[in-house]
Amino acid sequence: MKKIVILGAGTAGTIMANRLRKTYKKQIRQGDMGVTVVDQNDNHIYQPGLLFVPFGMYQPKDIVRSRKHYLPDDVDYVQSEIQRVEASEDKVYLGDGQTLDYDVLIVATGAQLVPEETEGLLGEGWRDKVFDFYTMEGATALSEKMANFKEGKLVVNFVDLPIKCPVAPLEFIFLADSFFRRRGVREKIELTLVTSLDHCFTRPVAAKEFGSVLDDKGIHLVTDFATGSVDGAAGKLTSWDEREIEFDLLISIPLHGGASFVAASPGLGDELNFVKTHKATLQAECKENIFALGDATNVPTSKAGSVAHFQSESLIDNIVRFIDGKPLEESFDGHTNCFIETGFDKAMLIDFNYEVEPLPGTFPLAGIGPMQLLKETRLNHWGKLMFKWIYWNMLLRGRDLPMVSSQMSMKGKRQPVTSDDTAKAA
Ligand SMILES: Cc1cc2nc3c(=O)[nH]c(=O)nc-3n(C[C@H](O)[C@H](O)[C@H](O)COP(=O)(O)OP(=O)(O)OC[C@H]3O[C@@H](n4cnc5c(N)ncnc54)[C@H](O)[C@@H]3O)c2cc1C
Repeated sequence: MKKIVILGAGTAGTIMANRLRKTYKKQIRQGDMGVTVVDQNDNHIYQPGLLFVPFGMYQPKDIVRSRKHYLPDDVDYVQSEIQRVEASEDKVYLGDGQTLDYDVLIVATGAQLVPEETEGLLGEGWRDKVFDFYTMEGATALSEKMANFKEGKLVVNFVDLPIKCPVAPLEFIFLADSFFRRRGVREKIELTLVTSLDHCFTRPVAAKEFGSVLDDKGIHLVTDFATGSVDGAAGKLTSWDEREIEFDLLISIPLHGGASFVAASPGLGDELNFVKTHKATLQAECKENIFALGDATNVPTSKAGSVAHFQSESLIDNIVRFIDGKPLEESFDGHTNCFIETGFDKAMLIDFNYEVEPLPGTFPLAGIGPMQLLKETRLNHWGKLMFKWIYWNMLLRGRDLPMVSSQMSMKGKRQPVTSDDTAKAA
């Protein structure tokens, strides 16, 4: 009997469990294949929904469901903490004393926040003047604070990349602008986005578009700010080069790392505990029968649910190939797709991969759309809201999305005309 163990039953682990079950339905029924999924709790949070909790648009109950409900009945679910993987023994050690043997291991244990890595962040002022919205506790506490915040300096700061959904800090500050305008208090509130990057986003064409939205909304942008420490009591952020930024309310996106057990698993992770993974085959570097996907990997693309979904389409094929003794295919191209809320019921959409940065155009159909890339539209906003339904009903169930392939398509995308081009044409 072949044993496949999946570590983590979040977005990526759940999708893989459902895809494996569909692929090996007969073998599982006949007892020739066993799939076991491990997670530490039964609360599956729809994490993109955390963005809306501070603004009262979602309540916590709207975005949490039982993990087990989304796993197939003939897959074993073990609720326990993972302590370590011994790749040399093909074994996983669990916190409850059990060990699991495997023929194939899939690591899908995501990323975790490590706020303790930033001096003072968890000190005086934490959850009073200093909040996060990347956890349910943080987003819930922040919703009360936002409802009562009527004047002062609000600062959004992501300490450094990588973070989950790198556009979420921008979305938060765009939504904050419309939230305070609708309440008639925006003139008394200064909004500032503070980033370690040299612009508001990593890729230049999108950074220019997002930068215009920040300008239009009168939101300040502070770049190249490597946060060294936070003083919640004094309301002060200090960078490593000793610049200071004052705040009355700080929304921090703390540093991220991989799951802690990765550090205890010889050879598995890098210095941040992300699994060292081949960026196109999704095979772990440490051993051929280990694979990884989702936020847990160190591949150079965004940490996003859409990425986990696109990766799962490549990975399921490679796992079949591995089990059948065939060479793996280098099929994952870094495809990422993400809606960006810009406030007042509008959103933008980006679609890109390792090689191609987010470009303007139409999506998914060339010239038709109906979605517009890098442009604020109401339809994109409805797409973002619809995504919750798609997540629970299609994505987690391992279903392919109609018209959106796992590999990025250039159809509908166009290179923007730059001032250099205009000068050359003249
Ligand atoms: C505020 C916010 C907004 C976002 N917005 C978007 C968006 O608009 N679009 C988008 O595509 N993505 C978005 N994302 C990112 C998206 O949610 C993640 O990329 C996605 O959930 C990653 O899936 P994953 O399975 O890799 O990790 P997760 O879903 O986090 O799952 C990891 C699982 O591993 C388990 N685990 C970890 N360590 C252990 C252990 N030691 N023992 C047992 N179990 C363990 C955890 O309990 C968890 O269930 C957003 C994220 C946040 C926080």
